[in-house]
Amino acid sequence: MAYCENEFNQQLERKWLHRAFASMFILSLVLIVVLYCIFLPDLDEHIFLNGVLTDAINFLIVVAIFVIVQKANLSTTAYVHLSLGLTLWTAGLTFDLLDEILTQPLFIGIYVEDILRTAGMLLTCYGLKLTMADLKRTQQRLSKELTTDYLTKIANRRFFYQHMQQVQTQRFTLIIIDIDFFKSINDEFGHDVGDKVLTELAALYSKAFSQECVFARLGGEEFAVFVPGDDQQFAIELSQQLLAIARTIELKKQRKVTVSIGVSFKTANESLTEVVKRADQALYKAKNSGRDQYNLA
Ligand code: GH3
Ligand code: MG
Ligand code: MG
Repeated sequence: MAYCENEFNQQLERKWLHRAFASMFILSLVLIVVLYCIFLPDLDEHIFLNGVLTDAINFLIVVAIFVIVQKANLSTTAYVHLSLGLTLWTAGLTFDLLDEILTQPLFIGIYVEDILRTAGMLLTCYGLKLTMADLKRTQQRLSKELTTDYLTKIANRRFFYQHMQQVQTQRFTLIIIDIDFFKSINDEFGHDVGDKVLTELAALYSKAFSQECVFARLGGEEFAVFVPGDDQQFAIELSQQLLAIARTIELKKQRKVTVSIGVSFKTANESLTEVVKRADQALYKAKNSGRDQYNLA
């Protein structure tokens, strides 16, 4: 509760801070415009005010970018490069702005101002490049996580259905594999052993498929394989191989893991729902006929 209150107060404080910054930023711009308008008629006499408006706006824009960077969730390297770059850039712009109001030594206008600004711009540019690279890596990681099963690290249901949708005009074989009496494995040996069976089976099966096949965990103790083409003989041999692989996992003497398999072949104009339904029905038949076997739809 105390933590919640603390966080709530911090959020409130930050909200006010953001509002203060935004108001200050807008007010400064308005002030500069007003001042400029007041002095505009006398610009010939006050020639030193020439360019103040644009320089001040440039200055405030870079300050605004600096504020955005301070609030952004960046990697340390990107943050350091951007902050340092923007600081140097702002310093250059400050001299540039003062140049319009005060008389500065010549070397500042010629060297310091430009060197600071150019170095700042270069560092900011590099910081931006680092930020983009971070963003790309994050996107790749998230998209991988979104399509990977968290336990077995193979493809998940989302990826499997997306893949089937992409190739739904082609003929393919759908194999659904369901571990037999998995609930009793959990009950008898514990949930951890159940998890181990799932990871071990997934690892063994992953090695059994060629590159063009897609193997995924649909959920719970149910897996699926997408095989391009509709070769029945191949599907039978593969199913027998999958039954044999499952039996290599031994929970205790005389207690092996077994699976039941349902296979369906997708014709060119059949819908995805239809082909999944037929594989499910085939699986149901394999279960009802005694398990540890396959059934072709
Ligand atoms: P059947 O032979 O008819 O398939 O029976 P079953 O016991 O395998 O099927 P049922 O649907 O009755 O039970 C599936 C069990 O799988 C129930 C659930 O607790 C368990 N389960 C689902 N996901 C996980 C998981 O990630 N880890 C573990 N250890 N168990 C899981
Ligand atoms: Mg089961
Ligand atoms: Mg099941």
